[in-house]
Amino acid sequence: MSYENLSGRTAVVTGAASGIGEAVALQLAAAGARVALLARRADRLQALVQRIRAGGGQALAVAADVTDDASVEAARHLVHETFGAVDLVVNNAGVMLPNPIDEGRFDEWQRMLDTNVAGVLRIIRAFAADLVAAGAEGRTADLVNVSSIGAHVPFPNYAVYGATKAAVTYLSQSLRTEFGPRDVRVTNIEPGLTETELKTHVDSAELSGQLDGMFEAIGALGAADVADVVAYAASRPRHVNLRQMIVLPTRQA
Ligand code: NDP
Repeated sequence: MSYENLSGRTAVVTGAASGIGEAVALQLAAAGARVALLARRADRLQALVQRIRAGGGQALAVAADVTDDASVEAARHLVHETFGAVDLVVNNAGVMLPNPIDEGRFDEWQRMLDTNVAGVLRIIRAFAADLVAAGAEGRTADLVNVSSIGAHVPFPNYAVYGATKAAVTYLSQSLRTEFGPRDVRVTNIEPGLTETELKTHVDSAELSGQLDGMFEAIGALGAADVADVVAYAASRPRHVNLRQMIVLPTRQA
């Protein structure tokens, strides 16, 4: 797939070590964007940088933890030093740790809140000024947040994960009132079942089996299918903001 309006842009993609983030980074780089890859696993990021460079693209590995203020601040410095200001931010890092509410797994709830909500906010704080400046200079500027269909559709045992994603969807919608008038687009993407590492962090054998059953019965999107939607939204002419996109496997209700 080839896209207009991505060549020459500078992107930061969180959660680029695997799954959807990795696929987004590959597609943006293939379309001519410089891509800063942010996640915790430096080895995975380095391997992706090599892959992108081998294909003639430009990429930078930025090992950082979105749950940590200092780490995100250091990441912002490194991105600025190497690439300068960014004009496309893909807030994709996330974790899904479902469990019945009465098990009270506060450690997991906290990790989801810290990553999926506070992490998204830290990245927005780090790069908002870049986006606003790009908008003011007449360039295309995008904030893309990866939420989930779980923001709307309740699944038993996924209450806290769903709540974190509902927060992302609401945040995206609300931020358009602050960013839109300054020519910064905000796009919220809600994928359904997608084949990635996300499900491998579920530590309940029962829930993990249930998930496997869903993947088998419904069939999943590939990470590249979701990345295609991200790239499509970011490649529209700058006066067009696709604000909300739900992307599901055809068989997922
Ligand atoms: P993956 O587990 O493959 O990717 C998650 C990415 O986030 C990894 O690269 C991981 O890298 C990174 N990450 C996790 N925690 C942190 C952290 N504290 N700091 C920095 N990076 C972090 O799953 P997906 O690709 O599926 O997930 C991407 C997004 O898509 C998530 O927000 C998820 O909620 C959402 N989503 C996924 C769906 C699915 O079915 N797969 C459906 C709907 C939404 P590292 O561990 O190296 O830090």
